Amino acid sequence: MIEISDLIYTWQNHERPTLQIKQLQIGDGEKVFLHGPSGSGKSTLLGLLAGITPIQQGSIKVLEQSLEKLSSAKRDRFRADHIGTIFQNFNLLPYLSPLENVTLGCEFSPKRRQKACAERNNVTAQAHHLLNALGLDGSLLSRSVSALSIGQQQRVAAARAFIGQPEVIIADEPTSALDADTREAFITTLFEQAKKYQATVIFVSHDKSLSHLFDRKISLPSINEANL
Ligand code: ADP
Ligand code: MG
Repeated sequence: MIEISDLIYTWQNHERPTLQIKQLQIGDGEKVFLHGPSGSGKSTLLGLLAGITPIQQGSIKVLEQSLEKLSSAKRDRFRADHIGTIFQNFNLLPYLSPLENVTLGCEFSPKRRQKACAERNNVTAQAHHLLNALGLDGSLLSRSVSALSIGQQQRVAAARAFIGQPEVIIADEPTSALDADTREAFITTLFEQAKKYQATVIFVSHDKSLSHLFDRKISLPSINEANL
């Protein structure tokens, strides 16, 4: 599903690379926990995997597509079609309702819209279904997102990532604002959805207490030669 080779990434004005990864492969449907201390390059790696940050050197293949061969517009397109993202700050649009935020996940991808409609009659019905499956009460769905708690907003972000069945889900410390019990419960519901859609999940956190829930644990410093 994902194949990294000879990747080197250096931020502008940095003397040394942040990332230097020779090889990393992640299989179909794998649930990977990527950990490492703050500043070790976890978010940098996710940005590259998601096609948000352009690749400088080396290669990242997602679903057999080499991201470094795509223009910025084509990478955006590829992400819209195949990658669901859940970021630390959720990136929800505060003036829209949960339902509207979730249907946005299909806005830039006819492919995902089609898959969402194949599951339910229309995209809104599928958004409704996902929000319920992720544990958001029906009475909250049409309110403004800014009126929701952090935990509720996190569920909206997850539903938006899953709508239209993207093959890869990328989550960057989505649980950092939650207490321990809510964290585990959130990851469990996340996995239920991932299993249903056979999605590959890459979940980043510095909190190793969550790692036992995952198929595979990768310590970024252990594969990153820039840190040696
Ligand atoms: P983590 O997510 O593991 O905390 P990051 O990938 O955010 O680590 O950061 C790794 C390194 O890259 C840090 O030295 C950080 O300062 C640098 N970095 C991250 N984002 C940027 C950016 N947008 N511009 C310049 N440097 C950055
Ligand atoms: Mg980070």
